[in-house]
Amino acid sequence: MAGRNFLFVPGPTNIPDRVLRSMAVQSEDHRSPIFSQLTFDCIKGLKDIFKTTTGTPIIFPSSGTGCWEAALTNCLNPGDTVLASRFGQFSHLWIDMCQRLGFNVETVDCEWGTGVPLERYAEILAADKGHKIKAVLATQNETATGVNSDIAGVRKAMDACGHPALLFVDSVSALASVDFRMDEWGVDVCVSGSQKGLMLPAGLGITCVSEKALEARKTAQAPRCYFDYLDMVNANKTGYFPYTPSLPLLYGLREAIATLKEEGLDNVFARHAYLAGATRAAVQKGWKLDVCAKEPKWYSDTVSAVLVPEGFNGADVISRAFRRYNLALGAGLSKVAGKVFRIGHIGDMNECMLLGAIAGAEAAMLDVGIKVEPGSGVGAASNFLRDPANVPAHMA
Ligand code: PLP
Repeated sequence: MAGRNFLFVPGPTNIPDRVLRSMAVQSEDHRSPIFSQLTFDCIKGLKDIFKTTTGTPIIFPSSGTGCWEAALTNCLNPGDTVLASRFGQFSHLWIDMCQRLGFNVETVDCEWGTGVPLERYAEILAADKGHKIKAVLATQNETATGVNSDIAGVRKAMDACGHPALLFVDSVSALASVDFRMDEWGVDVCVSGSQKGLMLPAGLGITCVSEKALEARKTAQAPRCYFDYLDMVNANKTGYFPYTPSLPLLYGLREAIATLKEEGLDNVFARHAYLAGATRAAVQKGWKLDVCAKEPKWYSDTVSAVLVPEGFNGADVISRAFRRYNLALGAGLSKVAGKVFRIGHIGDMNECMLLGAIAGAEAAMLDVGIKVEPGSGVGAASNFLRDPANVPAHMA
């Protein structure tokens, strides 16, 4: 097909050209005397992305899922209880992993389209006088439904009753796109990956662990080997890795971090909020449809799950968009399969790219018979994007 593919899944995301170029490197000796500088640069840059001075970033050769596993097996003992909430496919999969690894999960099932239930968490934690719960799990951005949760609020609920559990946060589709504050929010393990806000190919599990998490690791008996934090931390201290790292991905990571810093993290967050606002304007004001997130407080700045009208299948829109318009939209997963299609507005993205995707999604919907007004989504998004009240200062 002529022209570029429009990649609008919520990860993997578009890779900036300068980051792509930085990865086109010949293989090198990862034990050479000069390799260590690359490691130090990546770790130092990640500390700023995680907003931590006391936490330790770790880069695993995995995806985000590997970091979920690392969090559980490094910090917990077999049979330990964790508190978790399920409101989408990814929060579900983390719970499933906990169970498969032999942990006991106190699960709060929530309506899909909502997020971490702060009041329920507060009640459950306050009632846990014996501190049976060893870790609290929270998915900051549920990618399946486009729902953002309040992580500071989870910390508040824990502190309100003085609960000593560890706080594990899945920020796979939020980090480097939506604000995340490791130290300020008292997060013990943040789990992320390379292929979303960090604008790289998949292949790096990017995580950050607190001093408290590393302390818990000393006595935690869950079996682990490849994902042991200490092997990584000790090797990284010298600038090296306990096993062969992917050099191209590390070069890419250093360049991606530099790209984010040049724009400024707060500007990156503002750009994501701006593009998300334009997407919702297209959906709600233009197409007169709705997003899966039930209330504005749950709206995600990185992905919008668009509810298709009754009688239509979101998968048909996705298929049509891909085959006819070379536009990749995100699928509906599990409970929302067929009910939504997702527009990922995360990573290296600007207004015209987004308008192109909105135009393509609109055309695909019309082609499969969904009666939206032609041009309405693009018009509403354009109005939003041109309104000076909405434009981030650095883009004006
Ligand atoms: N958590 C969330 C919120 C995700 O969106 C994803 C993947 O999309 C994962 C976890 C799993 O990460 P990965 O696919 O990098 O293993």
